[in-house]
Amino acid sequence: MFNIILFGPPGSGKGTQSQKLIEKYGWKHLSTGDLLRSEIAQQTPLGLEAKNFIDKGQLVPDEVVIGMISTALETNPGVPGFLFDGFPRTAAQAEALDKLLQLKKTAIAVMLALDVSEEELVKRLLNRGQSSGRSDDTDESIIRSRIEEYETKTKPVADYYNGFNKVVHIKGEGSVEEIFEALCKEIDKRT
Ligand code: ADP
Repeated sequence: MFNIILFGPPGSGKGTQSQKLIEKYGWKHLSTGDLLRSEIAQQTPLGLEAKNFIDKGQLVPDEVVIGMISTALETNPGVPGFLFDGFPRTAAQAEALDKLLQLKKTAIAVMLALDVSEEELVKRLLNRGQSSGRSDDTDESIIRSRIEEYETKTKPVADYYNGFNKVVHIKGEGSVEEIFEALCKEIDKRT
């Protein structure tokens, strides 16, 4: 199995690049943002709880997202690998993920981190908010909170994987194709 984390701040292009990567490599895409939005759409108790956090630009509690990922790993046997998008977002989530993968006798091969400036992020997210219908994309103060959550809680996740020499930084500005090629180059070196 080849498991990869696509890492980066909100609006860095993880979703766009994930779609292209799973098409090329056949991995199972696990986006906690997508899983949470699906729970919200179905108005499940988990979705209703998560919505309170998401609408404030805050992270959803660790237990909630770890539980979702644990279920997703169990319900997708036999895939060639997992692409984690938007997870792990805290050090506790990273440690939990490593344990879950260990139980499956596998591990994270590499974390690819997309680097994008804050001004570009805000611009992209406000732009996305005009068409995505996402309540967390329409208000600049919520977007700033999400970037703040990223800086304080999520960035340390890169330090965690850096300790295992697993992080590669990729420039996340440029054309979608250019960024995709840079990602594929790093993946192909390792497979
Ligand atoms: P983006 O990366 O553009 O912020 P996502 O779709 O990944 O968007 O996530 C949207 C929201 O869902 C986040 O702002 C957060 O509230 C919640 N969320 C997603 N993944 C996680 C996670 N792993 N841990 C905690 N909260 C999460």
